[in-house]
Amino acid sequence: MTLIVLLGAPGAGKGTQAAVLRDRLGIPHVATGDLFRAAIREGTPVGREAKAYMDAGQLVPDRVTIRMLEERLAAPDAADGAILDGFPRTAVQAAALDDFLGRRGSRVDAALLIDVPAEDLVDRLSGRWICQAAGHPYHATMNRPRASGVCDVDGSPLVQRADDRPETIRARLAGQLDDLNAVVEHYRSTGALRTVNGLRPIAEVSGGLLEALEAGTAGVA
Ligand SMILES: [Zn+2]
Repeated sequence: MTLIVLLGAPGAGKGTQAAVLRDRLGIPHVATGDLFRAAIREGTPVGREAKAYMDAGQLVPDRVTIRMLEERLAAPDAADGAILDGFPRTAVQAAALDDFLGRRGSRVDAALLIDVPAEDLVDRLSGRWICQAAGHPYHATMNRPRASGVCDVDGSPLVQRADDRPETIRARLAGQLDDLNAVVEHYRSTGALRTVNGLRPIAEVSGGLLEALEAGTAGVA
């Protein structure tokens, strides 16, 4: 069983790389958000418990999330391992996950960090524009409209949501990066951390992650 924790800030390309790793390794991509939605939809006991917290506007406690994770990892498709995405999000959660896995005689085999400097993240995340008429998405560098400032589809003006402006993104990222760095330090101390430069093209980042994984688990498998 190979248990991977995929780490990266918003905008680092984690979702894209998780899909590549899933296909190449043949183990499921377990994103915490999906896990919550599935458990709630299926009405499992732990899903009902999570829903009660969410309905009350409270954070779902780590022990509940870990029980959800436990159920997910017990599913047949996760027999060879899983790629965790979105958990652990804090150093406290990372320690809780280690405790839980340790009790099962297991551990996080590799924590793969897709490393992208903060200002590059701001550039990636703040380039989003949408059209006023229908919300068609564009990006200042990655998906430009044919004519500057207007939608290719309906010709309506492109606008930027307050959430997508650089100053808003920079402020939001600061807190997220603090948490991420604490989790990164946790895995550095356990020896599971592998860092891959996330500024390269998507295929090269994928190659780097697979190489890092082989290097990290050689001698264990
Ligand atoms: Zn449009």
